[in-house]
Amino acid sequence: MTSTIGSTVLGYPRIGPNRELKRALESYWASDSSEAELREAARRTRTGTWRTLADAGLDSVPGNTFSFYDQVLDTAVTFGAVPSRFSALGLGPLDTYFAMARGTDSAAPLEMTKWFDTNYHYLVPEIGPDTRFLLADRTPVEQYREALELGVSTRPVLVGPVTFLLLSKPAEGAPDGFRPLDRLDDVLDAYAELLAELKDAGAEWVQLDEPAFAADRSEPELAALRKAYRRLGKVQERPRLMAAGYFGDLGEALGALASCPIEALGVDLVAGRSALDRLASLHGLHSKTLVAGLIDGRNVWRADLDRALTTAATLLGAAGEVAVSTSCSLLHVPYDVGAEAGIDPQVKSWLAFAEQKVGEVVTLGRALREGREAVADELARASEAVADRTGAERVRNHRVQARLGSLRPEHVRRADYADRRRAQEESLELPPLPTTTIGSFPQTAEVREARAAARRGDIDHAAYTRRMRDEIERVVRLQERLGLDVLVHGEPERNDMVQYFSEHMEGFVSTEAGWVQSYGSRCVRPPILFGDVARPEAITAEWATYAQRLTEKPVKGMLTGPVTILAWSFVRDDQPLADTARQVALAIRDEVRDLEAAGIRVVQVDEPALRELLPLRAAQHRDYLNWAVEAFRLATSGVAASTQIHTHLCYSEFGDVIDAIVALDADVTSIEAARSRMEVLDDLNAVGFARGVGPGVYDIHSPRVPGAEEVADLLRTALKAVPSERLWVNPDCGLKTRGYAEVETALQNMVSAAAAVRRSL
Ligand code: GLN
Ligand code: ZN
Repeated sequence: MTSTIGSTVLGYPRIGPNRELKRALESYWASDSSEAELREAARRTRTGTWRTLADAGLDSVPGNTFSFYDQVLDTAVTFGAVPSRFSALGLGPLDTYFAMARGTDSAAPLEMTKWFDTNYHYLVPEIGPDTRFLLADRTPVEQYREALELGVSTRPVLVGPVTFLLLSKPAEGAPDGFRPLDRLDDVLDAYAELLAELKDAGAEWVQLDEPAFAADRSEPELAALRKAYRRLGKVQERPRLMAAGYFGDLGEALGALASCPIEALGVDLVAGRSALDRLASLHGLHSKTLVAGLIDGRNVWRADLDRALTTAATLLGAAGEVAVSTSCSLLHVPYDVGAEAGIDPQVKSWLAFAEQKVGEVVTLGRALREGREAVADELARASEAVADRTGAERVRNHRVQARLGSLRPEHVRRADYADRRRAQEESLELPPLPTTTIGSFPQTAEVREARAAARRGDIDHAAYTRRMRDEIERVVRLQERLGLDVLVHGEPERNDMVQYFSEHMEGFVSTEAGWVQSYGSRCVRPPILFGDVARPEAITAEWATYAQRLTEKPVKGMLTGPVTILAWSFVRDDQPLADTARQVALAIRDEVRDLEAAGIRVVQVDEPALRELLPLRAAQHRDYLNWAVEAFRLATSGVAASTQIHTHLCYSEFGDVIDAIVALDADVTSIEAARSRMEVLDDLNAVGFARGVGPGVYDIHSPRVPGAEEVADLLRTALKAVPSERLWVNPDCGLKTRGYAEVETALQNMVSAAAAVRRSL
């Protein structure tokens, strides 16, 4: 058994190469299978992962990377942080765990939020002064033993204690000023106990993840990090400790960790490449293993192994030992590019998913240990792929580049708002408090089936078009019957708001099995943006104009914005994201103009991911927001003053992006607000927002249908903050996830509430 890390990855996907765990979970939740069956399926995915990683030749295989739902939830449960509303349910351990993740009739689930700047979501632990920390669950030890029986001594991976507490929120009833981090000492006791048990089971290494330090952290938070690793370093009987930070440059935390009595430090040299220069002079690193995260764990491109090796070579003097790894866990990429039969072979040859990335790490490890010659073939093939991609004609579209080169300031400026307002009033003739929806209507089984049949080739284009048109007509008639003012076509043709557009643009490929976990059993299949983006022909106009021909009411065209398309795709790493954003923006701009030319007077460009891409460090916010806002404006400024531009953001806590919302300069902005009781309107007022605003009045995440009186109350509350000329009436987004019965009643109530409030104006 080796005692060095050598080559490793920081984590691995766990949903199963064919989403076996997803199916097993959903079948268990639906009571179609037993706990024993679920556990067996889970064991099989774990075994598969350990075999894959060990057989590939990694020197150190990560352990405990499996989770039934989420690794932060696992950490909370391991250390006993189970809020009493769940323990009081009297369920077995697994069902208590799922209750925390998904809630029950009587217990609301833990809040879910985004894992740093990824599209993975974790559950937020609730920590109070009375939370009793102890080693309550020994899954990490059991899984260590399970792997050992297969002959693999893994390196258990845990969320580190400081990141765990920083990601937690104060439990309800905690006194003012209480912070979960106040409980560090108690948490450390529990971690120390787990370390001792892992040592006892035979573990040589443990990896503690501290990605929270890739974001800005205060002095007391850095002090907590030092304290934690001094303390854990001094535990008598423990495995060797590797602390890993990723998703960026750890900044000052790097020095803090290097000074602690631990044995290895994992650094992200892709997103955090800026740390490279400081590593050579880092005190304390000479006695440690530096685990160099050289292979991008967040993106799907084959690595330039030569360049990575050169980087690794420069580090040799900086640390006691240098090991190679991925920049972060491979949780964020799909399993195997080999499973993709449909991707163009040339583009496919540029890609590396989790399995291929493991191979890259193994190659790097051998090159470091045995010299470049030992892996000369692999290095040559990697260089060829990189050169092929760099030189490929299909990555470049000269027309797109020429267009970008000729952009001028007027391309991101619309007419004065006052003029737009007047022109739009004339064109649309809407009542005060106009009612509308966010775009999608329930996606019925028939709609999904029609899309699937068209994909399989079971029905021809004409038949597919007929079915979609029937659906659109139904949705339009329903909206007319309900009395909505601005209608939508309902988006029946869209599988997903990003994939749909990527499939109709040049520069993207889609995968067949490229699933990535988003949360729990939910996976997404991000498109891969590999080249200059262009839109060969109008994408949505045929559906929107069909809807418009059916009605006198204005139909709102529905598009996804450039930032959201980037955020939910794998993007190129060979040019700045801002440049890619501009290309996508130009394609959307053409689409907006085509809609206008076809007689559509209102166009909504959704940007729910605007806040998601916000960099972790405040110093980079301004630059990001500048190009993100510019991309939106580029997409939406190509139309006449009379064309009304809407945008939709899925959230209401704008935080650091609030000024950017103003700068988008949309005529109408719809936001989620049903749950936050309209408070966001005051925040918008505070930054001088003076455009139309539609705070959601119906919380679509809940099956509960609000009554008309309740909605009217919300509108009256909103009217205290927003004058009636600016207030729009709409639900939160997500109608497509609900059934028609609820949606009809809810919209009915919403329309009558708007009418009632209008009468009293
Ligand atoms: N127009 C989209 C819809 O209604 C918006 C979805 C979103 O913002 N997430 O589904
Ligand atoms: Zn939304």
